[in-house]
Amino acid sequence: MIFSSLDLAPDLQKAINSCGYEQMTPIQEQAIIPARRGKDILAIAQTGTGKTAAFSIPILQQMVDKPREDNKGPRALILTPTRELAEQLGEIIGGYAKHLPFSVTAVYGGVKLGGQEKKLRAGTDVLIATPGRLLEHIEQCNISLSSVEFVVLDESDRMLDMGFIADVQALLELTAKKRQTLLFSATLSPAVNELAHKLLHKHQEIRTSKQNITADTVEHVLYPVEEERKIELFMELLEEYNWFQVLVFTSTKEQADKLKEKLKKLPVATCHGDMSQGARRRALADFKSAKLQILIATEVAARGLDIQGLDYVINFNLPYLAEDYVHRIGRTGRAGSKGNAISFVSREEERSLDSIQRLIGQKIKRINRPGFEVNHREELIKKVAKQNRPGRKNKTTQTKIDKRPRKK
Ligand code: AMP
Repeated sequence: MIFSSLDLAPDLQKAINSCGYEQMTPIQEQAIIPARRGKDILAIAQTGTGKTAAFSIPILQQMVDKPREDNKGPRALILTPTRELAEQLGEIIGGYAKHLPFSVTAVYGGVKLGGQEKKLRAGTDVLIATPGRLLEHIEQCNISLSSVEFVVLDESDRMLDMGFIADVQALLELTAKKRQTLLFSATLSPAVNELAHKLLHKHQEIRTSKQNITADTVEHVLYPVEEERKIELFMELLEEYNWFQVLVFTSTKEQADKLKEKLKKLPVATCHGDMSQGARRRALADFKSAKLQILIATEVAARGLDIQGLDYVINFNLPYLAEDYVHRIGRTGRAGSKGNAISFVSREEERSLDSIQRLIGQKIKRINRPGFEVNHREELIKKVAKQNRPGRKNKTTQTKIDKRPRKK
C-alpha cells in the first residue's frame, strides 16, 4: 500500500515524500488507518519496522483535520524511555511536521531544565518526553497536560523494565479524560498486556508477524571465540572485511572503555551511560556523519538509536536478555536495506545464545575461524539445548524470557 493512497494533508504528504517513503511498512499499513480514525491501539513492533511514522502520521493528520481554536498546551504527548530516543523522535517527528503549523519539542533528563522550560513556556503542539523529566517540569509548573488528546507510549516494555510505569500512569492521569492512546511495545509480555488493559479503551491489537521479529534482511552469524581473544578476532575481521561503519555492543561500560582503549588508533568513540548527554550526542552525530568508523555502545545508551544505512552490528558480548539481541540488531537491515549481525560468543555465552536462537526462531550460522578454535563446545551446546527444552525450567534463562507462542 502506498502513502499517497491515504489522502493525507498535502503538507504532510510532502514531508513523507521528502523522506523518500512510498510504500508503507507492514506496521504502518495496519496502524495508520485505525489510528487516524481515533482508535486506541496496542501495537507489537520492534525498532526498525517504521513504527515512529505508524503512530505520528495519524496523529499529525488528526491535528490537521480537527484544528482547535485556542492555542494552549500540547495536543500530543509521546512518552519514551531514554534521552536518545526522545531526541531522535523529536528530530523524526519534527521532520514529518516540518510543513505543518505545529511545533514539536522533546524534553529529557541529563541536560539543564532551563532551556527546556523556555521552549515549554513558549508553547508546543507535540511534546516528546522521558517520564521523569516531564514530571519535573510539571512539578515546576512549566507545562500542563490537560490539553493532551493523543498519547503514545513508545517502547512500553522497556519503560516497564526500567521501572517508569508509575510515572507514566501519574502523567496519564493529568491528560484529558477523553484521549486516544497508542501503546507500542517490542514484545508482548503479561505486564504489557496488563498495562494495555488498564490504559486503553476498546483497543485494536496489531502486530507484525513473527518472522519480522528481526528484520528479514538481516544475516546473522557468530564466531565461537574465547573471551580474551575477542579483540584479536575483531581486529582481524575489521582488516579483512574493511568494515566502514560498525556499531559494536558491549554489555558493560567498562568493557566499552576497554575496547575503545585497544582500538584507539582508529576513529572510534563510545556511547554509554557514564558519558554526558553532550558527549553521547556528539559521538552519535560523528558516527552518523561517518567521521567515526566504530561506535561502541552499551544497551541502554543505544536503545532505539536511528542510525541509517548501517551494514554491520557486532555483538562483542552477547546481551544478557535475549530480547535485547533483537533491539540491538534493529539498527541494521532497516526498512529493506541489507544488514549483518555478527556475534562473538564465548564459552560462558553459549547459554544466552541458546535463548536468543529460540526467541528469533532460527539457528545462527556458526563460523569457526581458523586460529580461533575453541575446545569442547559441541558437548556444551548439546547440554544447554537439553536443559532449555520446552517444559523444563532453567533458572538462569527461562525466567527472563516470555516463552509464550506468539500469535501469527
Ligand atoms: P522506526 O522503526 O520508526 O525506528 O523506523 C526505522 C527506519 O525506517 C527509519 O530510518 C525510518 O526513516 C525508516 N522508514 C519508516 N517508514 C518507512 C517507509 N515507509 N519506507 C521507507 N523507510 C521508512
